Amino acid sequence: MEKISVAVRFRPSNLVAADPSPDGAGGVGDREWRIDDTRVSLLHRVAGPVPGASFAFDHVFDGAATNERIYGALVRELIGAVVGGFNGTAFAYGQTSSGKTFTMNGSNADPGIIPRAVRDVFDTVRQADDREFLIRVSYMEIYNEEINDLLTIEGQKLRIHESLERGVYVAGLREEIVNSAEQVFELLQLGEANRHFGETNMNVRSSRSHTIFRMVIESSGKDQTDCGDAIRVSVLNLVDLAGSERIMKTGAEGVRLNEGKYINKSLMILGNVIKKLSENGKQRGHIPYRDSKLTRILQPALGGNAKTSIICTAAPEEIHIEETRGTLQFASRAKCISNCAQVNEILTDAALLKRQKLEIEELRKKLQGSHSEGLEQVVLKLRNDMHKSELERDRLAMELEDERKLRMTLEQHLTEQQKKLEAISSDHFTDSIQLDALKTPDSKSVPDGFVACRSRYSQDVEFSPIPEDLDNIAHEDLWTHLNKGCVTDLDMLEMTPGLKREASFIQDTTSAVPLDEPTDTRCQRLEKECISDRQKLEESKARCSTLEKECDVLRDENLSLQQELSESKREADSLLAEKQAQLDDLRAKCAALEKDLYTTRQEAHRLATEKQELAGELGTERQKLDELKQDIRVISRGFLQREGQLTSLYTKSKAILENCKTSQIMIMSLCVGSLLCEKVQWNIGRLRLPLVFCELQILYDL
Ligand code: ADP
Ligand code: MG
Repeated sequence: MEKISVAVRFRPSNLVAADPSPDGAGGVGDREWRIDDTRVSLLHRVAGPVPGASFAFDHVFDGAATNERIYGALVRELIGAVVGGFNGTAFAYGQTSSGKTFTMNGSNADPGIIPRAVRDVFDTVRQADDREFLIRVSYMEIYNEEINDLLTIEGQKLRIHESLERGVYVAGLREEIVNSAEQVFELLQLGEANRHFGETNMNVRSSRSHTIFRMVIESSGKDQTDCGDAIRVSVLNLVDLAGSERIMKTGAEGVRLNEGKYINKSLMILGNVIKKLSENGKQRGHIPYRDSKLTRILQPALGGNAKTSIICTAAPEEIHIEETRGTLQFASRAKCISNCAQVNEILTDAALLKRQKLEIEELRKKLQGSHSEGLEQVVLKLRNDMHKSELERDRLAMELEDERKLRMTLEQHLTEQQKKLEAISSDHFTDSIQLDALKTPDSKSVPDGFVACRSRYSQDVEFSPIPEDLDNIAHEDLWTHLNKGCVTDLDMLEMTPGLKREASFIQDTTSAVPLDEPTDTRCQRLEKECISDRQKLEESKARCSTLEKECDVLRDENLSLQQELSESKREADSLLAEKQAQLDDLRAKCAALEKDLYTTRQEAHRLATEKQELAGELGTERQKLDELKQDIRVISRGFLQREGQLTSLYTKSKAILENCKTSQIMIMSLCVGSLLCEKVQWNIGRLRLPLVFCELQILYDL
């Protein structure tokens, strides 16, 4: 036994588009909610905490919490469990416009629980290498207490059935086999377009129906080849409830008002179920699951075989305090409920995975290996077709069963009428008992009928009295045992509409017999009834044969589908062989290329090493060159200096020579000067200028 996880989420306070209160109050008031991690309390700004208005839960989130955080805290673990074979349910409950749809669907920036859960399911499935999975989804809404299929417009006003094998299920609901999250999102989009929305004062796009998105996950061990092995079948329900509303606040009228009444009624029944479940086990009595379609469908999730998370959404504004308090009370009660979840393993043919052929599995495995997406799609389509035709066959079988029952009732009635007719015509009825037999239908007096008795809970005053002295009784405990905790209230089992209609007809015709009717008239009337009954019987026989024909057609379709499947298997095999050959070819080419690549790489490596060495040498040479350049620069600088000095000496010596020309020692100087000049010029040419300079200096000094 484990407790249901319950969290409360307050939406941001500034989101109220239209404030329906007359004075526009909706912002700051005298009272406010204080939110801690796991507790929420009502505070009066002056008087402090309001008594009796403090509640504790697994988590309490304020307006800043993201869908990601909520998902992580309440649903992520649940998804792991569902993939492992446990049933799981998560639903959002709260008043209109408190953020239920936002929590379940989310936005593009912050996806809600449903898209996150879908992605997580596929991610988890991908990681479980040792198991083979088959996932199918359905999407329905409960609108005005009628179940509609959101994935197909034909699926309206569907009925709930129960069988020991399948538990509680919605007959005729479309189920689509899927193998990727994207496929599921497409289906969800389709479903959203078919959903009922309406505009109220509180929310411009208010959900007017409860929606249930369901994923059925079947899995088996990969190495299990024997058909006798158990298959895990688990169901994940993600539910977005319509919001409870006060008619005054929403300003609903006409259609909206009618919808609101249905919504409030079913939520009230959900509240009753939760209240009963939260009471002490021994005193809680009968749980009214059957009072609404919502609680009937959610029955396993509420006190049954499932792990359940509830997110109660609330509005923080003061004008919504009463509704928020109601939501918190609901959440507190839900917190007390214990579920008894167990891995669902099935050995019978109820598992679709089992019914579908092993060869499909083999084919799928092969196709996965070859990454052939096109064929994968073909197989998926075939699977879906097969599943649909199976569902259709089930539906037709059910109708056939109904028709058979109807025929039997009519035949029985006909026999009775004939008997009475015979009795009347031979004038054998004389006493009042025989007359009574004609006045009332005989259906109540079946001597050894198999009767289901209510449990001891039925002794509460709100239930009709139970017959104390019945034999052949199947007690509720037996059904509980057979049904793994699902309490089946057999005397409330739904009858098919056709049956109900016909049954009432029978009652009408027989109960309307006047007491003092003359025998002839009675005979004529009974004959007429016989004729009309015979006609009905004929009609019903005709219907039966039509249904049987349809069944045959479906069987044929099934066969042809199987043939198609084997053909496609053959095609897949040949394609696979072709692909294998191509693959081998490619592999050989790849190997050659790899070899080339290896040689080229080695060559490249050698060249790179050489290049590195050359680069090193080049560096050294460059260094040397730089040094030489430096030397040359120094030398040329020295040379330039020397050249300048020599030029100035030459100029000076020239001037000296000219001076000498005019001096007293003219001749001497001239001779010496010309000699010197020559010597100097010659020496300049040979770069022996320092010597000449010294000589000149000596000479000049002289
Ligand atoms: P409900 O389904 O309970 O009637 P909705 O989910 O439709 O309410 O929310 C009403 C409006 O408030 C929507 O526009 C929605 O985007 C917005 N809203 C609700 N909760 C939040 C939140 N936690 N953060 C941001 N916007 C929110
Ligand atoms: Mg909504």
